Amino acid sequence: MNNPFQNAMKQLDNAADIINLDKNIRVILEQPDRVIEVAIPVKMDGGEVKVFTGYRSQYNNALGVYKGGIRYHPGVTIDEVKALSFWMMIKCATVNIPMGGGKGGVIINPKELSIGEIERLSRGYIQKIWPNIGSDKDVPAPDVYTTPQIMAWMRDEYEKLVGHEDPGVITGKPLEDGGSEGRSFSTAQGGVYCIRELAKKMKLNPAETTVAIQGYGNAGSYMAKILYKMGYKIVAISDSKGGVYNADGINPQKADAIKEAGGMLGCYCLGSVCTLEQVPGDGTCRGITNEELLELDVDILIPAALENQITIENVDKIKAKAIVELANGPTTPEADEILRSKGIILVPDVLANAGGVTVSYFEWDQNVKGEHWTEDDVLEKLEKIMVTAFNEVWDTKEKYNIDMRTAAFVKAVERVSAKMT
Ligand code: NAD
Repeated sequence: MNNPFQNAMKQLDNAADIINLDKNIRVILEQPDRVIEVAIPVKMDGGEVKVFTGYRSQYNNALGVYKGGIRYHPGVTIDEVKALSFWMMIKCATVNIPMGGGKGGVIINPKELSIGEIERLSRGYIQKIWPNIGSDKDVPAPDVYTTPQIMAWMRDEYEKLVGHEDPGVITGKPLEDGGSEGRSFSTAQGGVYCIRELAKKMKLNPAETTVAIQGYGNAGSYMAKILYKMGYKIVAISDSKGGVYNADGINPQKADAIKEAGGMLGCYCLGSVCTLEQVPGDGTCRGITNEELLELDVDILIPAALENQITIENVDKIKAKAIVELANGPTTPEADEILRSKGIILVPDVLANAGGVTVSYFEWDQNVKGEHWTEDDVLEKLEKIMVTAFNEVWDTKEKYNIDMRTAAFVKAVERVSAKMT
């Protein structure tokens, strides 16, 4: 596997070459402004102290305060955190919100910790990084395995340390703790606005447009529900246990009922919880694997689960006309190249899933202004930002005759560099 920071720098080089970026700006953008590494002592339930390593990378704040989530994962590395903070800079600049790029991470398997240990770890992380964050400096948020509850503990710890209220120090908080309306489905909603614009460009009519969604969690399940309401034909969905294909279309409410009752998605065809053996293996409605889902002949494929799903191994079998990356990094750089050469339209993660960070920005904005916006206000503002960004990236793609991912990077680097000169 390539080093993620090296991949990020290749993307920067591509964009910089296209716009002939000033070499003095280029060298500054080749590294984060600051990377903080901290040792976090945590008293475990058994009484002993364990020390965990945490990072916060502050990539660039030319457009606004550093912004980006905190990840709890055993695989966190300094290069991953640096790359993710670079991509946050690109994401915020692609949708033109006044936020910079940041990211944090702690090397930890949260599944091995009790709730109390996670609370002490979260407070301990803030005790180490607090002088470098704040609503006017750097605003963290949730990421992999970090939750609204963890954000609430972090805000509380930060406010104790600085001695005053600062709800905008962190976003992704519970609603009752200063969170924003609409945050729970904002990533999916932002992706839906992109699909609506894409459908206009590709002259797709929702009722005749087939969609497959890999990953039925927060992002993917909201996506399915919103697209279904708009009349799109969802023909396949999946989660970590496998998926279901139905040529006649899937009703997400019915899929939810099966999942809530503890059934696999494949049981959808039978309408009730079933065993693996009972899931039909062929026919109009049948169980499918995640690999099969990716290779379906659909109009729009939406990876909404994990990174590195479309790879050199399966890219030649991808039949979708368009791919909308709701997940972060679902396509490897090698596969990306092949999709580009085959002319498959790909709406990149930095645009397609930017609805999440956009509503995080709204949360921060409401907190610093002491306001609370309604869900309608939030959606109206989100729609405006996403539609504008989609069309700017599309126009940049046409102008330079490049793919949409490179176009998003070009647009973002142009914006950041304009503020640095
Ligand atoms: P989640 O944990 O709620 O859901 C993930 C889903 O993927 C689950 O249904 C899980 O069963 C499924 N899954 C796990 N392994 C799988 C596999 N091998 N094949 C198919 N499905 C599998 O996570 P989420 O918040 O929905 O995030 C999904 C992706 O979207 C991630 O890449 C995340 O970084 C990205 N994203 C999410 C947000 C957000 O606001 N939630 C914002 C930006 C980007």
